[in-house]
Amino acid sequence: MKLIFEKSSSGRQGFKLPASDVPLKATLADKYLRKVPAELPEVSELDVVRHFTQLSQKNFSVDANFYPLGSCTMKYNAKFTEKAAAMPGFADLHPLLPQLKGGERYVQGALEVLFDCEKWLAEITGMKAFTMQPLAGAHGELTGIMLMAAYHKARGNKKKYVIIPDSAHGTNPASAAVAGYEIISVPSDKKGGMDIDKLKAVLTDEVAGLMMTSPDTHGVFNSSISEIAALIHAVDGIMYYDGANLNATMGRCRPGDIGFDVVHLNLHKTFGTPHGGGGPGSGPVGVGAKLEKFLPISRVIKRQDGSFALDYDQPDSIGYIASFYGNFAIILRAYAYMLLLGADGLKQTSDHAVLNANYILSRLKGHYQAAFDRICMHECLFSASRQTERGVHAIDIAKFLIDQRIHPPTVYFPLTVKEAIMIEPTETESKETMDVFVEAMIRADALTKTDPGSFHHLPLTMPISRPDETKAAREMNVNFFAPKA
Ligand SMILES: *Cc1c(COP(=O)(O)O)cnc(C)c1O
Repeated sequence: MKLIFEKSSSGRQGFKLPASDVPLKATLADKYLRKVPAELPEVSELDVVRHFTQLSQKNFSVDANFYPLGSCTMKYNAKFTEKAAAMPGFADLHPLLPQLKGGERYVQGALEVLFDCEKWLAEITGMKAFTMQPLAGAHGELTGIMLMAAYHKARGNKKKYVIIPDSAHGTNPASAAVAGYEIISVPSDKKGGMDIDKLKAVLTDEVAGLMMTSPDTHGVFNSSISEIAALIHAVDGIMYYDGANLNATMGRCRPGDIGFDVVHLNLHKTFGTPHGGGGPGSGPVGVGAKLEKFLPISRVIKRQDGSFALDYDQPDSIGYIASFYGNFAIILRAYAYMLLLGADGLKQTSDHAVLNANYILSRLKGHYQAAFDRICMHECLFSASRQTERGVHAIDIAKFLIDQRIHPPTVYFPLTVKEAIMIEPTETESKETMDVFVEAMIRADALTKTDPGSFHHLPLTMPISRPDETKAAREMNVNFFAPKA
């Protein structure tokens, strides 16, 4: 197929398919075919390189800056894992290969990676089996809730509600609602955990299950999980563990051992794979024995002779939840990450993540109001309530940090704490980097006392200062920087 280079009536140049060589012509109606050449810009390689290099420099990334965004686990992504994902034996595989006659033998290595990942994650979480297919944390949640629904359907249970604590990530109620359940929100108690009396008050036979994050978005590990699990299991409910951030407990505590039946993990948080601009993510789902037969297809199996295969013969399965086998190149990076660190390394990861968060908590609690007066897990939570009395809000402090080349922590989440500032340094940051951050936070606090008004013009160093964020989200104009026509 050859492209024809042409000038359009407006004088711009572009490429066009020759009429004789239009393979789509047979399938597309005439009215959809291009009458004039597409106006593609003509630029040199150097201009393209400059354009993308400059864009990459505008991108705020962990490779260049501290990024303590709470709940998002913006840890450094080891370059070693990129190497693994680029290996031609994996990168050049076609996703349809396993389904072609004789194709299976070419994908044995890839299937082994999936098989091992499932096995290792099952070991880490105390679950019976895993699926690597879900394409994000929220997708894992939806898969998990669909497994929950399949379980109740198979048992003839009439279930209507999913219970979710008020500190949960917003995707939890969204996933349960998409799967057809109504949500009951349970408030947190004064120490940040779920209020068990309030839970008991809403528990009925119509409860399908409970979704829980622990450590939760308060950075608090719930010490009553076994008691909560017993209550939920007593009404034949399913305990769902939101393990998006396993970073605090990996290698220390297994959800399967403390009463959870289903769990999702975010490889793009705990397992050091890139977040991407909203993807590609990966949210594998693990289940205990009672949910295993409902797992999505295909499943990776190991035959007696040691070879690997994809099995579609799963009569009770909830079916397909993703095309092919998940975000394979991301799974590969997580595989390399687990191999690199080993069991002891993963455990150390959690220890250092918790240590770092507590270091920041202890250094800042004299300046900012700690949301809970206790040791935190992988993230620490403050309220800018003292600063607010001086007219400076959490958002103002976030803007101050941007001018210091520090990505702001998560602000205004969780919703349970007013003027929330939620800081997650992760284990990959050095004490020196955390000190630079802590000192910037202390300077911000000092400035709220001497010149609170100065915050309202910040940031001064960015192309955009203070957009109307709600309007920006609703009327997204991605051409903001494009030259006006
Ligand atoms: C990030 C996160 C999610 C959602 O994960 P996505 O991959 O962004 O869909 C769910 N729960 C918690 C606690 C999270 O931190």
